[in-house]
Amino acid sequence: MNTSLDPIVAIATATGLGGIGIVRVSGKELSQLSLVLFRKKLAPRKAELVTIVDNQKNTIDSGIALFFPGPNSFTGEDVLEFQGHGGTVVLNLVLERILEVGQSIQMRVARPGEFSERAFLNNKIDLAQAEAIADLIEASTAVAVKSANRTLSGEFSSAINEVVQKVTHLRILVEATLDFPEEEIDFLESAKAKEQWLEINKAVEKLLQKTKQGSILRNGALVVLAGEPNVGKSSLINQLSGTEVAIVTPIAGTTRDRIKETIQIQGVPIQIIDTAGLRETIDTVEKIGVERSWDAIKDADLIIHVKDATQQNFETSQDLQLQIEAKLLEVQKSIPIIEVWNKIDLCEESSDLTGIKISAKLGSGVDELKVSILNHLGWEDQVENIYIARTRHLDAIKKAKIHLIEAGKYLSQGNSALELFAEELRLSQDYLGEITGKLLADDLLGKIFSSFCIGK
Ligand code: GDP
Ligand code: ZN
Repeated sequence: MNTSLDPIVAIATATGLGGIGIVRVSGKELSQLSLVLFRKKLAPRKAELVTIVDNQKNTIDSGIALFFPGPNSFTGEDVLEFQGHGGTVVLNLVLERILEVGQSIQMRVARPGEFSERAFLNNKIDLAQAEAIADLIEASTAVAVKSANRTLSGEFSSAINEVVQKVTHLRILVEATLDFPEEEIDFLESAKAKEQWLEINKAVEKLLQKTKQGSILRNGALVVLAGEPNVGKSSLINQLSGTEVAIVTPIAGTTRDRIKETIQIQGVPIQIIDTAGLRETIDTVEKIGVERSWDAIKDADLIIHVKDATQQNFETSQDLQLQIEAKLLEVQKSIPIIEVWNKIDLCEESSDLTGIKISAKLGSGVDELKVSILNHLGWEDQVENIYIARTRHLDAIKKAKIHLIEAGKYLSQGNSALELFAEELRLSQDYLGEITGKLLADDLLGKIFSSFCIGK
C-alpha cells in the first residue's frame, strides 16, 4: 500500500496559545469529508462559518472553513482549512475529530513538510521553491525574507533552468553529430560548440556567485570574538548590534546564553560568541561555558581578535593568539582572523599598529570592521536581487562546474572525444537538475522535507 497518497491532516499554526489556530487537510477527495465534518457543503474558495461537533454532537469549536478543490490548491490535491480558536487542547480535539471522521479514507497525521512535499510531487512548485518556504519561515533578517521570496517565486529555479536549457541545446547538437558521423560535419565549427560552451561556463559562474551569496544569507555566520578581559569585547558587540539586532527565532536550539548574540550586518545574520568573556571565571559551571566557547572556535567562520591599543606590550594578546592558533591546529582548520585594535580614542600615536583600529566606545572604525567581516565571509554587497540558497545548491553547482570544465578539455581534443564531451555535459546537467529536484534520490528528498515544520 502506498501510504504516501493518503489524506493528511495537521495543526498548521505554532504550538502555544494564539487568537487563531489553523488545522489543514490535504487529500484526493475531501468534499465528502467536509460534508460530514461541517454538516454543510462548502463552496470552493469561500469563507464559511462552521462548527465542528464531536460524535456526541457536542460543539468542539466554531470558526471559518475554506475549501480549495484540487488541482488549484497549494498541494495540488483538495485542501481543507479550518481556522478555529488557537488553543492547544481545542486544536488537538479538532485534529482528533478530523482523524475520526476521516478514518474511512485512511486519514492520518501529516509528517513534517508533507504538504510542501505534495506540492512538489504534484508539480505545483519545484524543490528549490519548496525549500524556500522553510527558509522563509526560518529567516532571521528582513533581507533573508526578501531573498527567500525571490527563490519561492521561482527566480532561482529560472536561472537554473536557463542554464539547463543551454546545456540541453548543446547536448542535442553533439548527439546529432554522434548519430551521423558519415556526414562528416565539422561539429566544432558548424555548431559553434566552443562558443556555446563558453557561454554556459559564464552562466554557471554567475549562478555560482549568486548562489554563494544566497547561501551565506541563509546559513549566516558564526563569528568568535577573542580577546583578554577588558579590551572592549562587550562594548564591541553592543556597537556591532546597535539597533540591528537580528530577530531571534523561537526555533529549538537557539537558546540564548549570555555570551551569544545574534546580530545582522547588511541583512546577513551573524552569531557572535564572546569567548574570553567568561575566561577568567573560577566557577565550575561557568568553566564549562568557557570550554564550550572555546569549542565554538572550531565551528567559527571567522575570529575577531580584539586587542587594547593602550596596552601595546603585546604579551598577553600574543599569548591568546597562540592559544587560538593551537586550537585551530588541533582541529586542522584554517579560519580567517581579523585583528582589531580597540580604544584607539585613548591613543595619541597609532600609526604603527597593523589591523583595524576602532573605538568600541565611540563607534569609530566599526563600519570598516563590519565591511571587513562581510568580506572575510565572502559576502559581496554589490550583488543585487539575491535569492536565498542552501549549501546543497551550492555544492550541486560546484559539481556542475567541475564537469563543465572536464567537458571543455574534451572539446579541445576535437571530434574524437565528442562522446566524452557529451557525457560530461550530461553529468553537469544532472547536478543542476538536483537543485530543482528533477533528479534527486527519494531518500534525499525525504531528508529535505523532514526538516520542515509540521503543517507546512
Ligand atoms: P570586555 O571585558 O573585553 O568585554 O571589555 P568591555 O567592553 O567590558 O570594556 C572594558 C572597559 O573598557 C569598559 O570600562 C569600557 O567602557 C572600556 N572601553 C571599551 N572600549 C573602549 C573604547 O573604545 N574606548 C575607551 N576609551 N574605552 C573603552
Ligand atoms: Zn565583556
